[in-house]
Amino acid sequence: MSEYRYETHCHTSQSSKCGSISGRDIARHYKSIGHTGIVVTDHFLNGNSAVPGYLPWNDRVHLFFAGYRDAKAEGDRIGLDVFPGWEFNCGGTEFLTYGLDESWLYDKPELESMPLDEYGELVRKDGGFTVHAHPFREAPWIRLIRLFPHSCDGAEAFNAAHFQMGRTDFDERACFYCDSYGLIRMAGSDNHCGRMQYYTSVTLTERAGTIGDLISCVKGGEHRLLLLASDGSLIKQLFP
Ligand SMILES: [Zn+2]
Ligand SMILES: [Zn+2]
Repeated sequence: MSEYRYETHCHTSQSSKCGSISGRDIARHYKSIGHTGIVVTDHFLNGNSAVPGYLPWNDRVHLFFAGYRDAKAEGDRIGLDVFPGWEFNCGGTEFLTYGLDESWLYDKPELESMPLDEYGELVRKDGGFTVHAHPFREAPWIRLIRLFPHSCDGAEAFNAAHFQMGRTDFDERACFYCDSYGLIRMAGSDNHCGRMQYYTSVTLTERAGTIGDLISCVKGGEHRLLLLASDGSLIKQLFP
């Protein structure tokens, strides 16, 4: 059976303040461990963004995709599919957003202060897909654990960073949360640096030509979630 692995949660230094690897280099890194594609999900303009806040909204949106564009150019060259996304922030609660692009963001400065439930509903209405990132992570910058089960489509049931922290209890709670509300179970590595001790990947049996294809497969329950070692080798299947 063919297997196509995707990273659905990663950051670049051009667009995320906390990122320490360029778009180009993260594309090369995922190619080197055998992935088929990545979704670049930098912290959006209301999160830990590297884009200066004083610029006009549309300029900020354009700059926001600098890391994605760098990754995409390299991906096209080396044969890695690179899709755009972002990690929307509201008071430390974050929604990964897929299936919408740069043009959708233009002339929407109201997004910056939009409450999460409203945001999730707007994205859904316009054909996008949101995933609550690491819903039960505890960290100094996360003041509250807040759940919006009716305003997102899925949640990160597994986040590779939690394996690295030795906090798989965060993911146990996330799995229970997904199953309690019928949310789609997803997995991402939250990669800010390139090489990690573990990766979690969304794996398909068909290659996704677009981010829309990837979302359709996931909505159809055709995906598997894998835990991988630092060289990309399989440790175990996490789901189903
Ligand atoms: Zn970050
Ligand atoms: Zn992230």
